[in-house]
Amino acid sequence: MKLFTIFGNPVSHSKSPLMHNYSFKGLNYQGCYTRYQLEDGTKLREKIFDLNITGANITVPHKEDAFKACDILDPFAEKVGAVNTIVKKDGKLYGYNTDAPGFLKAIAEFKDAKKILFLGAGGTAQSTSVVLRDAGYDVTLLNRSEARLKRFSEDGFQTYTFETFDKELTFDLIVNMTSAGLEDENLPCPKDILEKVLPNSIACVDVIYGKETPFLKFAKSYKKPTKDGSDMLLYQGIIAFEYFTNNKFKFDEIKPHMMKAFR
Ligand code: NDP
Repeated sequence: MKLFTIFGNPVSHSKSPLMHNYSFKGLNYQGCYTRYQLEDGTKLREKIFDLNITGANITVPHKEDAFKACDILDPFAEKVGAVNTIVKKDGKLYGYNTDAPGFLKAIAEFKDAKKILFLGAGGTAQSTSVVLRDAGYDVTLLNRSEARLKRFSEDGFQTYTFETFDKELTFDLIVNMTSAGLEDENLPCPKDILEKVLPNSIACVDVIYGKETPFLKFAKSYKKPTKDGSDMLLYQGIIAFEYFTNNKFKFDEIKPHMMKAFR
């Protein structure tokens, strides 16, 4: 029986154990997936070896420590500096980022969307903006404060703060990449900005899942199609499962089992 886990702090709310255990069971794979509340991210590597863990997911706030813990990085994880999936093979730790490809797949249904506005510029925005740009999307970032925008503008993205935003710009997809609305009732940016950009958009997406955020509520008042972060979570999990099981199973084979965690 191989052992898998999710490291994070907090981690009690995570759906990952349910998602992966349904998949192990459904696909008759000898694996067991648990959760581990880790205070100190620098201890990640020793925990994986001490507990004899075959594979792990890493969530907030340890994705950068996970990046540092690996011996070998997938080129995309290396480019974005964040790892959410680790596989131990022959005594070495291999690091991947499955959040960003998961998000890319989650928005594929909006076929006409090309110009995307990200509300937020944190870690998730960092990896997803790169994957979207590589896939041909045009990504602009709008963030509450300036500090986090620096690395994006240095990397060639168009960036704005609430104060500098040009309200005449139009976007196909508006995405809440902030944690506003997760544990509060805040919108991710001032209402007057949303009132300008929402009417011209095709749809609105939130990376938060499991609740209707104030952002999605506001988008619905404009009769816009909306989507929460559940598919992103599902797809990053399926891609991680492919790595965990060394591509023994195909994406569409894993999906129906993992989806049981969302019923
Ligand atoms: P970070 O802590 O790295 O970044 C947080 C971002 O949110 C910053 O841009 C911050 O702005 C902004 N922010 C926070 N509060 C507010 C507020 N009240 N108003 C406006 N902006 C605000 O977070 P992550 O990138 O790691 O996570 C972002 C979200 O993505 C979380 O809600 C997380 O749950 C979700 N997520 C979902 C996944 C899924 O599978 N569905 C996977 C990974 C993450 P500032 O720079 O000004 O502080």
